[in-house]
Amino acid sequence: MTAEIKPTKYLLQSVATGAIFEDTGWLLDAPGEDQPTLVRAVYEKKQLQLNEDKAGLYRFSDWLPVVRPLMGSDSPVTYKSEGLSKVLGLSNLYITFSGYWPAKGATMRTCSFKETEAFSVGARMDGRQPGKVLVVASAGNTARAFAQVCSDNNIPLLLCVPEDNLNALWFDAALNDCVKLVVTAAGSDYFDAIHLSNLACQINGFYAEGGAKNVARRDGMATTMLSATTFIGRIPDYYFQAVGSGTGAIAAWEANLRFIEDGRFGSHKMKLMVSQNAPFLPIYKAWKVKSRQMLPYDDKLARQDVESIDAKVLSNRRPPYSIAGGLFDALVDTDGEVLAVENDAARKAAQLFEQTEGIDIHPAAAVATASLLQAVENNQVEKDAVVMLNITGGGEALFAKENKLYYLQPLIVFPVSPTIEEVKEKIGQLRW
Ligand SMILES: *Cc1c(COP(=O)(O)O)cnc(C)c1O
Repeated sequence: MTAEIKPTKYLLQSVATGAIFEDTGWLLDAPGEDQPTLVRAVYEKKQLQLNEDKAGLYRFSDWLPVVRPLMGSDSPVTYKSEGLSKVLGLSNLYITFSGYWPAKGATMRTCSFKETEAFSVGARMDGRQPGKVLVVASAGNTARAFAQVCSDNNIPLLLCVPEDNLNALWFDAALNDCVKLVVTAAGSDYFDAIHLSNLACQINGFYAEGGAKNVARRDGMATTMLSATTFIGRIPDYYFQAVGSGTGAIAAWEANLRFIEDGRFGSHKMKLMVSQNAPFLPIYKAWKVKSRQMLPYDDKLARQDVESIDAKVLSNRRPPYSIAGGLFDALVDTDGEVLAVENDAARKAAQLFEQTEGIDIHPAAAVATASLLQAVENNQVEKDAVVMLNITGGGEALFAKENKLYYLQPLIVFPVSPTIEEVKEKIGQLRW
């Protein structure tokens, strides 16, 4: 039951210039500005009121750019840790869980916080999008989340995925054919899929979802922080999350700023403690030398490093780091840190989490957990600090045990680097 939720009133603001303007549809950039900047939503309601009543993710709709709520959403769940907190000696460790864990009230069928983005982006649609078919490129959790949510809500979607990542596209039932999958051939990677999606967006009637630039995407992910802060009753002191793009951490910082304006949850900024999976460390390396620009990364080496990490969802090579309002600004403003975690440490942390908390977690969430262990060991966190550990994905093993899985099949296999003519011709033949 989400029918009682009304469109949220908000304006948009350029982070670079502070200019405020209306959302005339699917704005991803500040009109008339050429400096790269994120735009933010400025919500009319400065104090967050939760919509209870089974509203799912839309319990947070005061701070989501919602025009039309979708069916079937769930929100992240926060609880106070007993098991892991004891092992770490932390007296105020809170876990925010996105995924499938019915015993805790978490029922995200695609098992990660990417589902919060998909429900928020889908709810921003109001008929003023620049096209009819939404285009999303992804190598994993984002693709699964958008496919499920669009399928359940009849939203036309073109998914672009590398063929080698097809095993990420599992569902508990066959999908509605408003979701169409195309792939770049074996041997291609996420960047090739992005390239294909950019070509597809040049076709009339197709439009890009927008990634970190889409306010709906960031504010959807921010619900992890909204869940934690409203549950705890105050803004946490530390925020632990594994990052690929850093969009989730930017979103959590933006939510922190909103809570300061709200006034009821404290006036401090939580320290962002973000982590990457070694040896793939582009954000870590740039932040180490406090560089706003990403450092050069040899293409071949980057591909090798991606190959060797467990948490492939963290393999973004062009994160929104330098852009105004991006991850660099978020780290500066919160006196944040970037931590590096090896596969081994992450695997051990996943085991420890399952033993102490009772659920399997995604390799990326294991990186975040390992970074918390590391920070505690190095005395970077006071024992009584209020710590939020963002478990961005989990419960996949439990979900697979309880369900028969269906795999989405591609309609077209493109070469690694197709021409625009080929893309136009083949995708142009698909019918929604
Ligand atoms: C995408 C993803 C991340 C990284 O999120 P960003 O905020 O985009 O860097 C972390 N964990 C999981 C499970 C993810 O799917």
